[in-house]
Amino acid sequence: MSDIIQLLPDHVANQIAAGEVVQRPASVVKELLENSIDAGATTITLLLKDAGKTLIQVIDDGKGMSVTDARMCFERHATSKIQKAEDLFNLNTKGFRGEALASIAAISHVELKTKQKTDELGTCIKIEGSKVNSQEFINTAIGTSIAVKNLFYNIPARRNFLKSDTVETRHIIDEFQRVALAHPTITFLLHHNNNEVYHLKSSNLRKRIVNVFGVKMNEKLVPINEQTDILTIEGFVAKPEYAKRKRGEQFFFVNDRFIKSSYLNHAVVNAFDGLLENGMHPSYFLYLKVPTKSIDINIHPTKTEIKFDNEKALYAMLRATVKHSLGQYSIAPVLDFDRDATLDISYNQKKNNSQTSAPKILVDPDFNPFKEEKQSEIRFPFKREKKQENWESLYTSVISDNEKQEELFSENEDKIQKTFQIQRKYVLSLIKSGVVLIHQSLAHQRILYEEFLESITVKEANSQQLLFPVKISFSSQEIEMIYTIKSELENAGFSFDEFTKESVTIKGIPISVTESKITIILEQLLNDIDLEVPDTSFSHFDIMAKSFAKTLAIKTGTKLSEKEQDALVNDLFSCKEPNVSPFGKSIFKTLTLNEIDNLFNS
Ligand code: ADP
Ligand code: MG
Repeated sequence: MSDIIQLLPDHVANQIAAGEVVQRPASVVKELLENSIDAGATTITLLLKDAGKTLIQVIDDGKGMSVTDARMCFERHATSKIQKAEDLFNLNTKGFRGEALASIAAISHVELKTKQKTDELGTCIKIEGSKVNSQEFINTAIGTSIAVKNLFYNIPARRNFLKSDTVETRHIIDEFQRVALAHPTITFLLHHNNNEVYHLKSSNLRKRIVNVFGVKMNEKLVPINEQTDILTIEGFVAKPEYAKRKRGEQFFFVNDRFIKSSYLNHAVVNAFDGLLENGMHPSYFLYLKVPTKSIDINIHPTKTEIKFDNEKALYAMLRATVKHSLGQYSIAPVLDFDRDATLDISYNQKKNNSQTSAPKILVDPDFNPFKEEKQSEIRFPFKREKKQENWESLYTSVISDNEKQEELFSENEDKIQKTFQIQRKYVLSLIKSGVVLIHQSLAHQRILYEEFLESITVKEANSQQLLFPVKISFSSQEIEMIYTIKSELENAGFSFDEFTKESVTIKGIPISVTESKITIILEQLLNDIDLEVPDTSFSHFDIMAKSFAKTLAIKTGTKLSEKEQDALVNDLFSCKEPNVSPFGKSIFKTLTLNEIDNLFNS
């Protein structure tokens, strides 16, 4: 038998290695941005075409490369950042594996232009699939520009595997944000298909966060600051009332490198103990500095996971620091999540028999999240006092406004009421065989959902023109997102006037939307799209209809007139699927006369 083992040619080995480093356009973006930072750049520009599928170009004003280095940098395991194994334990650079450029050049068309300060002429190298096609001297600015075109052109399977432009752009923006947040003093620009998406000027940390996420972020931030021998913690957490349903804005940076750590996340979430509603996630931007020797970055190829020597101490310190800052800055109203909003109405009314007063927000100026007893005292005043009420209050609480009270008990018997609202939450409707109990908010969600879905997909939507167009500010990332779903939004009844980097001007809205709700429904929609990462336009439609329905549906606690109750019942039962809400919850229950009888026969 002859020998059969042979070494793979370099370009094949590189292509295989590329699979590990480059999963998608966003991976290229990350590697190129990190190289520019390692080169000491003060301004970094990222240019994209078609979500990076056609072009990813990074231009920096860093130290550039010599002619020889320009050629060398595309070799596998070629790096200027470490020389020996020990260096791995004392890393001050982003890169060190010497694999990124070799991998990228194996699976795309690369054009490198670079020049050092001391050189008169720069170098331009063109490579396709690891093969150098040309190398020449050129006139170029100090620094480096690397253009990566047609990613995965020679691996069709990978190219076809790429997601829609919306999704790939999302991944790129995630990477871009992480790098930009880690280096607030560096100026970053991002252009996508010749539109400027970000222009982040060199600034302090707080400004950088606000520039990335929009002006609304500023008021949400609580500063964090702690310095000990083994660790410095800096940054911000968002106040508890701004917690989000998705985990979006959670950032840890360790020695200026974005990392993922469920362990440290746990420490932060733990510090919010008692301040967050179930299922809500706090936003945070936390910058940890630890001695380079005490961490190991080498455990994951994309370098987003690291190992700490003294994890437990870090955990405790992080938790205590965040908790302390929250305690100091927590001037927020007490959020009353456990209590059912409908319970307070009757109580108020009993005391003040003639008039209903406007709902008040409970604010406790002495609120301290660490004092547990205090908190529960504020939380359940209604439940506690309710016990002391006598049986009469049961009636006043069932019928929660005077008007209805009169109607119900008036001598005038000729009008038979068929629907009743219970606790401003359910509508009870009489039917031949018994009663049906309908959850008002879920029912309205279903009605709105079917209405929107139909107007978006089937017929022309009914749009109302606004007398005065409304200008709404968003972060540039949100604007980008609205722009990609613009045509679907137009189907739904929106019409747009002007898109700028920070705002959208809206001149028409769907009939069922009121002007005051525009911002909230768009914000909720962006949030929902973000959560689902939809890929086809059908699911866009569906998410949109669901999101609008959820935001616009009447809520528990809303009083309904008899007419409204009637309309709700009728509209619900003319829906295609009246049984379940768009999110799969049951909308109503029926109780037959038989079942009611049985309640009394046991
Ligand atoms: P690594 O970053 O792990 O060293 P890369 O393949 O990303 O590996 O880059 C190889 C080398 O090319 C780097 O070590 C650096 O010397 C050089 N290099 C890459 N990008 C730049 C840049 N933008 N400016 C200057 N030098 C660069
Ligand atoms: Mg690198």
